[in-house]
Amino acid sequence: MTVPDPPDLSAPTITDNAPLKPPNPGSYARRDLYEERQTPESGVGAFATTTIPSGTRIFCEESIVMLPDEAGHVELYAAVKGLDEERKAMYWALAASTKASKDVAWIDALRECCDEDISETFNELVEEHETAWSIYETNRFTCKSRDGVTKSLGIFPQSARLNHSCSPNVFHRYNPVINRLTVHALRDIQAGEELLTSYIDICHPTVARRQLLKHWGFRCRCSACDSPDDEEDYRRKRIEDLVNRMGNREKRRVKNEGKWTGKDYERDLAIIVKCIRLLEKEGMEETDTLGMAYAAGVRLAVKVGEEEDALKWAEKAVEIERKCLGEDSMEFVRAGELLDMARRVNAKAERS
Ligand SMILES: [Zn+2]
Repeated sequence: MTVPDPPDLSAPTITDNAPLKPPNPGSYARRDLYEERQTPESGVGAFATTTIPSGTRIFCEESIVMLPDEAGHVELYAAVKGLDEERKAMYWALAASTKASKDVAWIDALRECCDEDISETFNELVEEHETAWSIYETNRFTCKSRDGVTKSLGIFPQSARLNHSCSPNVFHRYNPVINRLTVHALRDIQAGEELLTSYIDICHPTVARRQLLKHWGFRCRCSACDSPDDEEDYRRKRIEDLVNRMGNREKRRVKNEGKWTGKDYERDLAIIVKCIRLLEKEGMEETDTLGMAYAAGVRLAVKVGEEEDALKWAEKAVEIERKCLGEDSMEFVRAGELLDMARRVNAKAERS
């Protein structure tokens, strides 16, 4: 579940020491809300056993293995070997659906550090390494540090049971403030529904999503992928284009600081308004899509003197971050800072 980096339009304004709610050290999966069940095609899945209201934190899980992005087969195997028996069993029980890597340089390195007397069992050892690696590739989640610079990959065995949908009903994200992976309901979920998260950026059109999902070795059968409605695919393509344009213009604006005119800001804002309308229409109400667009919209609306829009979007951004990530996330704090700023600007506009 290596999630690609979302475009950074949020311009972080808080530091590592920003005040946040005290960390909650608990690690839990809300087994009172869901149960694991075998599915016909996707292995074990998690199914709601009761109504789960939008915004509910269903998982708040500590990793059993977390390694730097660049770690390879040998480091991973050593980490799994070092687990206690219970966690080791959790690890080996996870699904392995990726193919063996074509890069086999690690096998030579392993041979060099093995004693002569294990030569008979060396092939078995290689196979074990490959299985451990396939489990890792199939189930790992991206974990970014608070400054967003350092990327690690972690295994969270309970959350790893979540299957994929391109129209997900839950949202997952590693929260570096509390060192937990959190999974929240994106909308009200009814008893019997499978809890589905997206392993990839949901803004891509179907062809691109299929390509990305090959990594996990399955063909997605979600409502978006199987929809006979070409219009839906066209709208996702439009969203992807608009998100890319927003990101590109943001980069150019940062480069040309000071040279951006009122007209340029208006053009930026027009793209964001289109993006917000489409995302709202599609119900893609999560932090990496609509949350990101609202935050970018607030800053630009302030620049061009649309204070009321800025305030409206800032309020919505706060609600999206609360729903997707919770009040102990940096994203929620940043959205709160934007809201404070939008309120100040509005109060000033009303006075003048
Ligand atoms: Zn799909």
